[in-house]
Amino acid sequence: MKDIKIIDGHCDTLTKLLDKSCTLADSANHISIDKLLKGGLKVQFFAAWIGVQQLYGSSLQRGIKLIDRYHTMIVENPELIIPILKCEDIDQLEDKQIGALLTVEGGDILEGDLANLRIIHRLGVRLMTLTWNHRNEICDGIMEINSKSGLSNFGISVVREMNELNMIIDVSHISVQGFWDVIEHSKDPIIASHSNARALCHHPRNLDDEQIRAIANTDGLIGINFYPPFLSDSKGSLDDIIRHIDYISGLVGVDVVGFGSDFDGIDQLPEGINGSQDFPKIIDRLLRLNYLEDDVKKICSGNYYRIIKSILK
Ligand SMILES: [Zn+2]
Repeated sequence: MKDIKIIDGHCDTLTKLLDKSCTLADSANHISIDKLLKGGLKVQFFAAWIGVQQLYGSSLQRGIKLIDRYHTMIVENPELIIPILKCEDIDQLEDKQIGALLTVEGGDILEGDLANLRIIHRLGVRLMTLTWNHRNEICDGIMEINSKSGLSNFGISVVREMNELNMIIDVSHISVQGFWDVIEHSKDPIIASHSNARALCHHPRNLDDEQIRAIANTDGLIGINFYPPFLSDSKGSLDDIIRHIDYISGLVGVDVVGFGSDFDGIDQLPEGINGSQDFPKIIDRLLRLNYLEDDVKKICSGNYYRIIKSILK
């Protein structure tokens, strides 16, 4: 197997670590230290998933607890898990060190106050998914099927402030109108950290061709999500992951494709994939399908690296 490293743009392992009181050594989760090392992970994005307010009370308080769990995870794994705050932190990783980039999934954490955006940035958050499935102060999520609203005035100010702070804007889970509003208002590349192609799997969480082209026009990226219901109408398999890679790279080029596994946030896995240790199976399949090695490297980490380099200055 060639030494091709992975950047995975989305997982929900922090929720497991906090709510199940486990550690990154625990092999029961999709992601663990051993699995990350076996998978050849260079950088894993760790999301603080804010969820729905009814479950947790204050969104900000819930977010702070998850952010704290990220930092204690770093402390529990000295010299092994390294926080990524800017691109040079990736360049300085040694072999066998894994970068951990902190993200927030759900702008509910801001509770409508831009000061909270600046504060979470100071706490190390470098990417924010603007909404989860439902409405928040920024925008509607994709599951608000009866309203379809886009960015609020506050949402527009969040997009501008994220550009100012050099934070990556993530449009996975956002309403269709919200998606187009972000494209209009952001000056930086846009990513959908964990979404697939609607043309192959007709799920509202997936992106249609126009949206995929719009992300490509920003020089952005789409992270292929491994959740079977987003991959296929049937059970979902490694082959379906490849189909989505094929489709998006065929539509807009290989520079737009990355991974957003959604490990530890999904209750089903595609056939052939059990956790982050299985990324080499995907690499192997792409190489056997005669993808150029340079293109495989872009999909696995190069495209994410390009975006991190352009935004996390
Ligand atoms: Zn998600």
